[in-house]
Amino acid sequence: EYSRKKKLFQLHLEAAQYFSRQLLHNDQAKPVREYLQRRGIDAKMIETFSLGYALPDWDDLRKTFLVKYPAELLLQSGLLIKKENGSGEYDRFRNRLMIPIHDHQGKVIAFGGRAMEHDAKAKYLNSPESPIFHKANTLFGFHQAKDAIRRTETIVIVEGYFDMIVPYSHGVQNIVATMGTALTEQHMRLLQHVKNVIWMFDADTAGIRAAFRTLDLMLQYGREPRSVILPPGEDPDSLVRKVGVEEFQRVIEEAPLLLDFIRAHIIKKYDINKVEHQIACAKEILPIILKIQSEAVRNIQIRRTADWLRVTDKSLMEEFKKIAETGK
Ligand code: ATP
Ligand code: MN
Ligand code: MN
Ligand code: MN
Repeated sequence: EYSRKKKLFQLHLEAAQYFSRQLLHNDQAKPVREYLQRRGIDAKMIETFSLGYALPDWDDLRKTFLVKYPAELLLQSGLLIKKENGSGEYDRFRNRLMIPIHDHQGKVIAFGGRAMEHDAKAKYLNSPESPIFHKANTLFGFHQAKDAIRRTETIVIVEGYFDMIVPYSHGVQNIVATMGTALTEQHMRLLQHVKNVIWMFDADTAGIRAAFRTLDLMLQYGREPRSVILPPGEDPDSLVRKVGVEEFQRVIEEAPLLLDFIRAHIIKKYDINKVEHQIACAKEILPIILKIQSEAVRNIQIRRTADWLRVTDKSLMEEFKKIAETGK
């Protein structure tokens, strides 16, 4: 078990070096180098994040690595895939910009690969789970960001690789990415000593769904995350390039509570001039608020919700109180 992991670490390190060599020196990677330039990713960022390139071939990595590593280990890492019919294996990552994913000590444990052709079936392809890679307890960029997180007592959480890489390179270094998923219980352990959590997510359906789940989880852990809601069509990568780093930092510093965003998002669906709507809306918001661990904070939020819903009528107040106590 121990030596198996050691071999996987070694393999990933060498694979990252191999992908990096292709990006920097292979003629076939010229369009990729131009692509990175267009995205504002300079040589220093390429080095900081050990970016690389997987050639379009079906077996360049296979041929290079089978000399040194058993097929079985390469399959377990996910760098090779077993052929469905017949024997042998082929490269998982082809014609992709390669983004190494590190563990929190800085060892490469997996890769994210971004398609370089526009019509690719999946824009991003990640390594599968392996003995050294568990997506649910990995935060992309944590290894690079952890000093700044400690220093600022703040962590900014985004969805995508470039949403971490680009702001980081502009100087916002307390930033990590979830690789497109919601936060998990395992992630919460990494955040437990960080004072401020800022959730910065896309304003699309997936982003809002993730925000609901994240708020739920955080409240259960006694946390009160704040959030930045991005304008439609923007992500943190595009935003920092558009508005500049000072404005980006300001937006982070002034981020309101995620709960306030969620509450506003729910209320938007209702016409709170109607009593049935006020009740239905309370039934949707209050169960979330009941997950707040601190009684004092919980009561403040219940009161604030009553204000937002303009609960003034006496009988409505009774109904509201009942929902606030039972969630039903
Ligand atoms: P780019 O800026 O390179 O076009 P993005 O990071 O803005 O990409 P999104 O489509 O917004 O990409 O997705 C956000 C994140 O979700 C990605 O960075 C990636 O980590 C993850 N992701 C997206 N699509 C997939 C997929 N098909 N498989 C695995 N992860 C994915
Ligand atoms: Mn999105
Ligand atoms: Mn993007
Ligand atoms: Mn995006």
